[in-house]
Amino acid sequence: MSRGRGDWLKVIVVGTGAGGATAARELVAKGADVVVLEAGRPFKPLTRKIQWTDSLRRTGLLGSERTISRLFPHMQTTRSKELLLVRGMTTGGSTTISCGNMVRAERGLREIGLDLSEEFGELERLIGISTIPRDRWRPITARMFDAAERLGLDPRPTPKAVDSAKCVSCGLCEVGCASGARWDSRRFLQQVVKGGGTVRTESPVAKVVVEDKRVTEVIVDRKGSIERYKADVVVLAAGGIGTAQILRSSGLPASETLWADIVLTMGGRLEGARQLEEQPMAWYAQREHYILSPYIDILSHWFHKPWRKVPIGDRVGMMVKLQDAANGSVTEKGEVLKRLTVEDMERLDAGMALTKEVMESAGAKGPFVEGMLNGGHLGGTVPLRREEVESMHPSSLPANLYVADLSLVPRSQGLPTMLVTAALALRVSRKIARAQEQH
Ligand SMILES: Cc1cc2nc3c(=O)[nH]c(=O)nc-3n(C[C@H](O)[C@H](O)[C@H](O)COP(=O)(O)OP(=O)(O)OC[C@H]3O[C@@H](n4cnc5c(N)ncnc54)[C@H](O)[C@@H]3O)c2cc1C
Repeated sequence: MSRGRGDWLKVIVVGTGAGGATAARELVAKGADVVVLEAGRPFKPLTRKIQWTDSLRRTGLLGSERTISRLFPHMQTTRSKELLLVRGMTTGGSTTISCGNMVRAERGLREIGLDLSEEFGELERLIGISTIPRDRWRPITARMFDAAERLGLDPRPTPKAVDSAKCVSCGLCEVGCASGARWDSRRFLQQVVKGGGTVRTESPVAKVVVEDKRVTEVIVDRKGSIERYKADVVVLAAGGIGTAQILRSSGLPASETLWADIVLTMGGRLEGARQLEEQPMAWYAQREHYILSPYIDILSHWFHKPWRKVPIGDRVGMMVKLQDAANGSVTEKGEVLKRLTVEDMERLDAGMALTKEVMESAGAKGPFVEGMLNGGHLGGTVPLRREEVESMHPSSLPANLYVADLSLVPRSQGLPTMLVTAALALRVSRKIARAQEQH
């Protein structure tokens, strides 16, 4: 777009995760006047030595998973009965606490006529994708890969946005990458600022104000201290929970179809396995309703009582990441109501049985104990419909209010979701720019 910034109306982007940072970067590149509002603080990885956790953990003094948000406020957890939902609240959103897996996930999108191949390709080239060399896998992970192959599960190395030359194999991607090896969306935010955009942290958006079917203002509420931002176009990218919460608080609809790609990790044991000393999820095997992948669930290790007896060096793990039912809802306060369905549970049981078979075949020993049910791919609360694909604008929202995050994806993926979120945000922001050009 050749127009100068002066011709552009003001765009406010809410959130700096996979969706928000990508949308803001693209809109700035197109010449827009962009202000990004982020609820969290600037991200810092948890670099404190964490060996101390092991003795506290064995005695139960680490407490519940709520402790993690106290030690590491960038990671927020919300419980809905047996399910723990995890998200990043910081610059870079959940990408800063990700494992760096980059897979083209598009379940439910082609069905509504949305083909993101071009955006996927563009982002993969921009970010740089590679796999972890097999000689960097721990021996148990390599043996589990071979076992999965023997069982006909067709495992393959996971595409990663990680520079293996910089990675120190600490295994703690989910508390932030201290070596800078792993991509996260803060790299796009840097380009936003370089391009003249503004990023305001500690700016939690409470709601948008709608007048005459248009959003006129965005309200930031810092514990009662209110700030108002005038906007001509607003892009919500606060994630599956955050975007739904803002919509509800603004008297706008959010769909009760939240999904989370539920993860359950089977914990086994093998003396001296040291599986944590590698990048998590080095490979994955895709089944119809879930993937299997080698993984030590660090939250289960720290906070799940039945896992307490096994020291980290002897822990072996393999996850099932499930395509769960899109049946959750988010309240105005950001509380989540979501349950597992009978079908979800049956599929998880089948996946757990398979993880045990792979682990045993690779030489891991029992007792095999399941970890905590958790989910961190939060989507589906503003599901895009076939008739909205051309405009990329949800018709239930005011004309100048867009969504550019995982909320748009109608169905769970059971696969990594950063790439699809960024691809959607790219498409949405280009539609906004085109609509502005035609205006
Ligand atoms: C532990 C963990 C590991 C993961 N690992 C991977 C992986 O390896 N590969 C992969 O592809 N995916 C992974 N994911 C999932 C992936 O990170 C998310 O699906 C993706 O980041 C979603 O992008 P988003 O823009 O929708 O939301 P997010 O990235 O979560 O961004 C939402 C942003 O909005 C901000 N926000 C929220 N509410 C407000 C508000 N009211 N006002 C202002 N700002 C607000 C948040 O602070 C955040 O910056 C992982 C997720 C978790 C939790």
